Amino acid sequence: MTRKYKQFETAVIHEGYDSKKHLGSLATPLFQTSTFTFENAEQGERRFAGMEDGYIYSRLGNPTVQVLEEKIAALEGGEAGLAFGSGMAAVSAVLFALTKTDDHILCSQGLYGCTFGLLQLMKNKYRIAHDFCEMNTEEQVRKMIRPETTCIYVETPINPTMKMIDLQMVVRVAKEYNVTVVVDNTFSTPYLQRPLEYGCDIVLHSATKYLCGHGDVVAGLVVGKKDFMTHIAGTTQKDIGGIISPFDAWLLLRGIKTLPVRMDRHSANAMAIFHELKKHPKVKKVYYPGDDASPDHYIMQKQMKHGGGLISFELHGTKQDAQDFLNKLKLIKIAVSLGDAETLIQHPATMTHSAVPEDSREQMGISDQLVRLSVGLEAWQDVWQDLQQAF
Ligand SMILES: *Cc1c(COP(=O)(O)O)cnc(C)c1O
Repeated sequence: MTRKYKQFETAVIHEGYDSKKHLGSLATPLFQTSTFTFENAEQGERRFAGMEDGYIYSRLGNPTVQVLEEKIAALEGGEAGLAFGSGMAAVSAVLFALTKTDDHILCSQGLYGCTFGLLQLMKNKYRIAHDFCEMNTEEQVRKMIRPETTCIYVETPINPTMKMIDLQMVVRVAKEYNVTVVVDNTFSTPYLQRPLEYGCDIVLHSATKYLCGHGDVVAGLVVGKKDFMTHIAGTTQKDIGGIISPFDAWLLLRGIKTLPVRMDRHSANAMAIFHELKKHPKVKKVYYPGDDASPDHYIMQKQMKHGGGLISFELHGTKQDAQDFLNKLKLIKIAVSLGDAETLIQHPATMTHSAVPEDSREQMGISDQLVRLSVGLEAWQDVWQDLQQAF
């Protein structure tokens, strides 16, 4: 799907929706219904046979959800989109659609904790193998591709260490071997980074985070080629059934309208706090995609608009010191999730990545002293003041 509105700020508001088709309603109507009635038996037959367009049952399609799917497809610059009841429903629908027993998935080193869990399950129950790869160079990627590799699965920036992967480099190698490239774009959103423009095949999101932006929905989104999205819609979405509710789709449509405004503020706040953290004696190390001293900075400049709202940092001391630090915070809430108006902090080793075995955690660079901050939309000085009093 090509974007009707070239400017992203206009597209987030207008793409996917035509008020003329909905009695002039400015806001997208909420079709809070499980099913759709047929005028007669023959119409039901035609709808099921695919001979007539129209809705059947909300697991197979819903008008409110469809507006969301068309909007995200336009924003990512893809042909078609699909909405799910969670980010993990989206990840699993894509990975199960792409693989069968004895296939192999090549992953970035460091993944969202539950994606790691899903890969374990696929390996243990269905003999679908996976490997982790640094993906710093073409050679590293090429060396780890096997004849059975069907998919390269990438997070960039990687949660929670903010390491970045050059998507154009990965695509160059993947094309040689005819391997599908999937990108989890949750941290960046299409406002900051659009992987399909670099030749990646599928982009997916936990829409729970920045796309929603208000901490009141759990949802997932996927964008890719029309044929493949139709295949998922008819198999791993329809039959496993992890669909989104119409109300959650409606809330997401509301949130997405302000995405660029929010992302700019999240990023500006994060940049200000990053500079303060870097100077603070209690902080051992800071990871932020906008750090121009980072060896990955050229990748950010190549493929991201700016650094985003997430910062991870390592404190001096022990795990207990990190936990004591969290306990002293007043304004900043201790919570997993990210991308909300409220600044949130969490401790990956004991929270989001607690299910990852210790040696894998170490390989991913997740120490016991590492904390992850999702910088919110408050005045950054208030956020910094809270951090400072807790140090
Ligand atoms: C949260 C998250 C997910 C999982 O999404 P849910 O909506 O919680 O199911 C996947 N990937 C990343 C990078 C995430 O932050």
